[in-house]
Amino acid sequence: MKICDIREIPGIEKNVLEYLDKKNHEQVVYCSDEASSLQAIIAIHNTNLGPALGGTRMWKYSTISEATKDVLRLSRGMTYKAAITGLNLGGGKAVIIGDSKNKTNNMMRSFGKFVESQNGKYITAEDVGMTTNDMKIIYEETSHVVGKPIELGGSGDPSVVTAYGVLMGMKGSAQYKWNNNKLKGKKILIQGVGNVGRNLIELLIEEDADIYINDVNEEKITAMIQKYNVKSIKDNIFSADIDIYAPCALGGTLNEVTIPQLKCAIVAGAANNQLAKEYIHDELLSDYNILYAPDFLINAGGLINVYSELKGFSKDEVMKKTENIFDTTIEILNKAHSENISTQKAALKIAKGKVFNKEYRT
Ligand code: NAD
Repeated sequence: MKICDIREIPGIEKNVLEYLDKKNHEQVVYCSDEASSLQAIIAIHNTNLGPALGGTRMWKYSTISEATKDVLRLSRGMTYKAAITGLNLGGGKAVIIGDSKNKTNNMMRSFGKFVESQNGKYITAEDVGMTTNDMKIIYEETSHVVGKPIELGGSGDPSVVTAYGVLMGMKGSAQYKWNNNKLKGKKILIQGVGNVGRNLIELLIEEDADIYINDVNEEKITAMIQKYNVKSIKDNIFSADIDIYAPCALGGTLNEVTIPQLKCAIVAGAANNQLAKEYIHDELLSDYNILYAPDFLINAGGLINVYSELKGFSKDEVMKKTENIFDTTIEILNKAHSENISTQKAALKIAKGKVFNKEYRT
């Protein structure tokens, strides 16, 4: 197994290395292991508030540069997500280069050794292309892993808690926008009815909301319609006549093409990096008088859930901490208004304050 600083790998694109220097990542290491076909990168963005915790993504990146770019962006996001949520954690992330279909137990074990080589400065968890069972195998090589199965002291499926946090963010936004946090009768579109979207449907049914769904997977749509009182919107979802848009599929759906079409008053969903361009599309949403609940704040329930594993898992505490997203959302919306900045900038300002000024530490 060979481990080295990412800067030692030839051919990394200049703009990726520039991003690395600009965003001040503490450590970015590359690992290759011929015997298990592992090729992976661990990026530790910042550990001012604690060890860098963030999931491992396994994806078919076409180049090491592409994988590096992704891991740098994702690890930075984790720093601010942990900070805004009030967790004593830093931000990190890992990527494994390859198709998850080609994953082997050997590869997972080898990745576990790579995580162990960071001496606890980086703690891994599940992300796209990884499963709870993978965490179990990684755990054979390192203790620095969360998101393990419940029988191993793990916290189980995080998406239930993520959906609850999104609901809190939605209700906080509704309170701010309409002076009432009840979602009864509100037309809410959930884009993506996967793990989080499905749990969100159940929570919104309890709120008596008017639920609309969209997904690229027709079978999921049919299954949801059979199980719940929801309607599907197939085409032109961005111009649909709705009150709240909840992106729960992919990032980047808020951009210069979609935002002008939106008729909703609020955007509040689980997807990571919903703004295609963070510092442009936040302003565009404000220009259209659309309230944007920052994704990294309201989708933090899953992180709160895995964080609890480090302290001894307690479901009650997890749900209480996740409920705080309601108050934090209102705090950020008020700050954005009083400082005349976007909600994204207000959230980042608070998060950065916590990371870089010790007196903000919880
Ligand atoms: P998932 O893969 O279970 O579900 C995603 C769903 O979106 C799938 O049903 C998929 O068919 C659908 N989809 C994909 N592309 C689409 C498109 N263009 N239009 C409509 N639907 C589309 O994922 P998940 O775990 O539910 O996570 C959803 C989002 O929330 C992701 O962006 C994820 O990064 C983010 N997130 C998830 C968690 C968690 O706890 N699972 C935590 C934080 C953030």
